[in-house]
Amino acid sequence: MERYRPKKILVEKSIRDLPLTQTVIKRLKGIPVDYINRVKPLPVERAQDSWLNSQKTLLLCKNKGRFFEPCPGTKNYLCCLYKILNVATNCHLNCTYCILQAYLNNPFMVLYTNTNEMFKELDEVLSQHPKTVYRIGTGEYTDSLVLDHLTSFTRLIVPYFASRANAFLELKTKTDIIENLEGLKHKGKTIVSWSLNAEPVIRNEEKSACSLNDRVMAAYQCQKWGYKLGFHFDPLIYYPGWESDYKKVLEKLFRTIETSSICWISLGCFRFIPKLKPIIKKRYPESGILYQEFIRGLDGKMRYFKPIRIEMYAKMVEWIKSYDSKIFIYLCMESEEVWKKSLGVAPLSNWDLKKWLDDQCRP
Ligand code: SF4
Repeated sequence: MERYRPKKILVEKSIRDLPLTQTVIKRLKGIPVDYINRVKPLPVERAQDSWLNSQKTLLLCKNKGRFFEPCPGTKNYLCCLYKILNVATNCHLNCTYCILQAYLNNPFMVLYTNTNEMFKELDEVLSQHPKTVYRIGTGEYTDSLVLDHLTSFTRLIVPYFASRANAFLELKTKTDIIENLEGLKHKGKTIVSWSLNAEPVIRNEEKSACSLNDRVMAAYQCQKWGYKLGFHFDPLIYYPGWESDYKKVLEKLFRTIETSSICWISLGCFRFIPKLKPIIKKRYPESGILYQEFIRGLDGKMRYFKPIRIEMYAKMVEWIKSYDSKIFIYLCMESEEVWKKSLGVAPLSNWDLKKWLDDQCRP
């Protein structure tokens, strides 16, 4: 996997002296830096046009809004009440199905360097409700580790979560950029998660991300460093022969990773908002991801037909449980009916699902 290295850096003048800004500029010595007052968001269509090229520009700026926010979830489906820490946006791995393509109105790689304000905001939120358990992820608007070789951000955030009683951090990635995680006092409060997929899907739809083998080996290394692990089969892609390809992924995973270090495995079939379709078609005409039939779900997203989703989930659950029946598996954004038909059980509410996941984080 090629690690991100921009061709140009834009720096907002207001954050030029902050430690994280300085660290990144030093590590990218030789790359031209422009100091600017502020970048205006582009209309989404214009951002689309210049997407792949503009990712070569790294924008260091201030997050003027909130860092902490609830996961957007989706109406009418069970949601785990995850929370998001918005530390960066965009991702140069360019998976064909990436939702960010239809969502961001700024095509640059953006890193918010006012981390002092982020920690202040986190302190406030976590102290306000000390009895509430927070599962917080940094991998919603970017890949959690894709810039870590430039930022070493994990060396700040992992010890921070180790010091907070009521919060767990999830780092979600398709990379092997894990070197900064070595030797950190994480106290079991950070879960490092990998999105996994069948090898043909990785080859065709996740071309710039790490190979399956590299992801599993990175997880193995984190296991040796005492981290709890998560795995996300999301998006599961339906195609003739999917069964044997996904079975091979599970074989590789369980040959390498101890099931006792797995906090959770999530499953989610491919789904997309309708405006993503023309973007994928234009940007990745060779992608096969749209070949299936889709139906509009209750949340407006296009999904595989219900029987296909149930079949995929039920088979994945059966195969995973054949390695260890105690592994915790959950579905991402599915209905109670699909839960019951795939897993034999469904949470009673979003709060119920939240509690199941919170319990998985505890030692
Ligand atoms: S790794 Fe995640 S954030 Fe990055 S392009 Fe792929 S789906 Fe998008």
